[in-house]
Amino acid sequence: MKQFFDEKSLKAFEGLTTPFYFYDLEVLEETLNAIKKAAADHPFKIHYAIKANANSRVLEKIKEHGLGIDTVSGEEVSCALEHGFEPKQIAFAGVGKRDDEIELGIDAGIFTFNVESLEELKVIQEIAEKKGKMVDIALRFNPNVNAKTHEYITTGLEENKFGINFWELDELFELLPKLDRLNLLGLHFHIGSQIRDLSVYKNLCNRVNQFQEIFRQRGYDLDHVNVGGGLGVNYEDPDAGMIPDFEEFFSIFKEFVKLYPGQSLHFELGRAVIAQSAALITKVLYVKKGIKTNFAIVDAGMTELIRPALYQAYHKIENISKGKEVEVEAYDVVGPICESSDCFGKRIKLPKTERGDLLAIRTTGAYGEVMSSNYNLRQNAKTIYKDEIH
Ligand SMILES: *Cc1c(COP(=O)(O)O)cnc(C)c1O
Repeated sequence: MKQFFDEKSLKAFEGLTTPFYFYDLEVLEETLNAIKKAAADHPFKIHYAIKANANSRVLEKIKEHGLGIDTVSGEEVSCALEHGFEPKQIAFAGVGKRDDEIELGIDAGIFTFNVESLEELKVIQEIAEKKGKMVDIALRFNPNVNAKTHEYITTGLEENKFGINFWELDELFELLPKLDRLNLLGLHFHIGSQIRDLSVYKNLCNRVNQFQEIFRQRGYDLDHVNVGGGLGVNYEDPDAGMIPDFEEFFSIFKEFVKLYPGQSLHFELGRAVIAQSAALITKVLYVKKGIKTNFAIVDAGMTELIRPALYQAYHKIENISKGKEVEVEAYDVVGPICESSDCFGKRIKLPKTERGDLLAIRTTGAYGEVMSSNYNLRQNAKTIYKDEIH
């Protein structure tokens, strides 16, 4: 098993100001190679969901490997363009696109707007008319498939705000022929994030086939179907699950999605691409005895990693200053922010921990650094790459 922290990194950490995000881009490289290998020989196109992590070095590597970009804001579209991605590699989803964001996408000539409502269709048509341009779009549908993940990261149920619903189809088919500035390229779905039960993707495939059938019957010849992202990662045991099982993931789509001649299948993976490439390194400031537990109070908080506070997400925590031989105790690992939800984990078994020890909070590459904030007027934590300290 590959160790995420080698001796040299651990030594270098002692001289660094905490907290900081530590990235090993070799893990990203291996992950990207695994994706390419698993998707090879099929008409699959992979877009990276830039909202998971938009660091320049991460994006550079992703570009080197030829992935496209999935965006959910005008700012993300600009960021992708600035990093040298071609406009035709950029898809733009999002349930609330502002007019200026739509204009930006049209002016840049992006690959598609993944449109999430009938009203948005009309707005894009209007803006395109004004500009005298044709605009490529895909329709994002809510497939009503349960992703069996945390409710805050479930997006494909009828009660969720995302996408066009099945019962709007009649109205949609009435509207589409009137939208002469819009060129319908594809269908788009995205059912949620951190999906570990891959059988839910079979249900998505069935829905994709149904939607395709409906559009074919109406005479639409589509260029692609986009099945979104959501593939989960192993937060419990990152060292054992460093590279997600892309073979298994893609094999489901190979087996169950019916593609028509000339069609391609698009994916938008975020978390699975980058999550395991980083850890948040934090220092223990104080150890406090509670009634039922000890508190290890650390210098990172929900400002650097909000996932535990926001979705009760689990991240593995390790004491990287102590060896395995030391006696183990249970700690609530908490940050300094004035919120009770500012807690990285409860009853975490760690080697006896003291002020000054370094803890690693693992699997923070996705939705870690990008979701950081300056609450309590805190400064942004630094980003350290392994190859910089070697
Ligand atoms: C967030 C998002 C993704 C990526 O989700 P992951 O769980 O990180 O793979 C893909 N597509 C859309 C539309 C998204 O909003």
